[in-house]
Amino acid sequence: MNSERKIIIAIDGYSSSGKSTMARQLASAIGYRYIDSGAMYRAVTLWAMRHGYMSQGSSPDVDAIVAALPEIKIDFKVEGPRQLTMLDGEIVENEIRSLEVSNCVSPIAAIPQVRHALVRMQQAMGESKGIVMDGRDIGTVVFPDAEMKVFCDASAERRAERRFKELTDKGASVTYEEVLDNVRTRDHIDETRSEGPLRCADDAVRLDNSAMTIDEQNQWLLDLYRSCVAAVK
Ligand code: C5P
Repeated sequence: MNSERKIIIAIDGYSSSGKSTMARQLASAIGYRYIDSGAMYRAVTLWAMRHGYMSQGSSPDVDAIVAALPEIKIDFKVEGPRQLTMLDGEIVENEIRSLEVSNCVSPIAAIPQVRHALVRMQQAMGESKGIVMDGRDIGTVVFPDAEMKVFCDASAERRAERRFKELTDKGASVTYEEVLDNVRTRDHIDETRSEGPLRCADDAVRLDNSAMTIDEQNQWLLDLYRSCVAAVK
């Protein structure tokens, strides 16, 4: 691939809107690096929970978390087609996907200093372009000049069904109602926080994939990618 034509691809959207799957598959199809920015917020959350600075139903100890931020080491280990999230050298890919972490992550992600630190890391990862990053503020804050921006949406019920299936497939004991409640609560916190709220960038292409198959979605993305690359001088 011509390195001059490498672009930045920002895929934002609501929780469980299928953006990680589409971002990962697009990155692998075009030979780009994929970064799941939500995994980074989840890793900080897991760290805070393990240290007793955050628990379900309570508020985070903001001062303690902010003070420790420079020490929290988040990284990704590439293993075949999988990208595993590392926290202080330990693979925590499964732990960060639990409903407990999902229930605590949005209040942690609303802390401005946490956002500043992670946004800086994400921007550094995109310095040489050739990256697909998914999240909530990638097209608005992290890479406002990204050459391709997609914003994914789907009904809360459809998204909760997906997340419920993912969790129960892994053996988690959760109910659909708990997952739906988590999806709605996170949407609300993510949309209303003051720093980097979830919103569609003005120049993003909106995608409601509720009625699309994975193949249709992948084709749609590839077509959009080709037109965005062609538009880059
Ligand atoms: O993408 P995922 O659902 O795993 O993200 C988990 C949480 O991390 C979101 O609900 C949101 O609170 C936070 N997040 C964020 N900004 C991002 C990515 C995720 O605030 N760029």
